[in-house]
Amino acid sequence: MDEVLKATGVEKTYGLHTKQPFKALKGIDLTIDENDFICIMGPSGSGKSTFINVISTIDNPTGGRVVIGGQDVTDMTEEQLGRFKYENLGFIFQDFNLIGSLTISENIAVPLSLSHKSKQEIIQDVEAVAKKLGIDHLLHKYPEECSGGQRQRAAIARALVNQPKLIVADEPTGNLDSENSHEILRLFKQLNDEDGVTILMVTHDSMIASYSKKLLFIKDGELETTIEKLNKTQKEYYYEIVDANSKESQELFQ
Ligand code: ADP
Ligand code: MG
Repeated sequence: MDEVLKATGVEKTYGLHTKQPFKALKGIDLTIDENDFICIMGPSGSGKSTFINVISTIDNPTGGRVVIGGQDVTDMTEEQLGRFKYENLGFIFQDFNLIGSLTISENIAVPLSLSHKSKQEIIQDVEAVAKKLGIDHLLHKYPEECSGGQRQRAAIARALVNQPKLIVADEPTGNLDSENSHEILRLFKQLNDEDGVTILMVTHDSMIASYSKKLLFIKDGELETTIEKLNKTQKEYYYEIVDANSKESQELFQ
């Protein structure tokens, strides 16, 4: 199986040159293979966002190496990273991060702006992905004219339009109601099952996590437990995740 991402000994210290540096990540190793669907959970402040940011070029680690698609991104210049990001990664955020002054269509096209595609090809790509996500009727609307669920679908379309090697999603359902959250996760699962899209996601919701194939727990900047879905039903996997989370909270009361 092809390796999409390999993180080795990844560290992040905030305020490195201050009197009180804070070590948010204490040396994490992670390999993501093609078609993985990995979910990261952990208490608030445990380093989940820091971890996915430093392994996906949004932020730089202060130690360790990150290789994506065979390329070491730890040594790249800002300019190289900018291009690399657009060509290889798709990002989905809790607050959607759509640009309010652009239509849904223009928002979805943003990652193609550095490509050499013609205007016609870009329109075709945008329409194809929008159709797949059931938002082709919204292409000429502005984000503020769309519901939360529709905005998140637009953000997912934007993340997918380049057919990236990896989709990185930090609390993608954090601003959605339960029904929309499940719809978005069913979509993730479908993209993973049917199109082989590789997904790395952070959530604090066990139900949302139960759509993944592998679960990693982060605590105090270190990877603790790993749970795999394997042949379990989603319900069995969900109970295992709930159980791991409750062990976690029981420790807090000892
Ligand atoms: P999580 O996503 O798991 O809630 P974060 O990765 O956001 O956690 O944060 C991990 C730790 O690093 C927290 O203690 C947080 O206060 C600290 N931290 C996060 N970002 C910064 C920053 N820019 N500067 C200093 N400390 C930070
Ligand atoms: Mg976070």
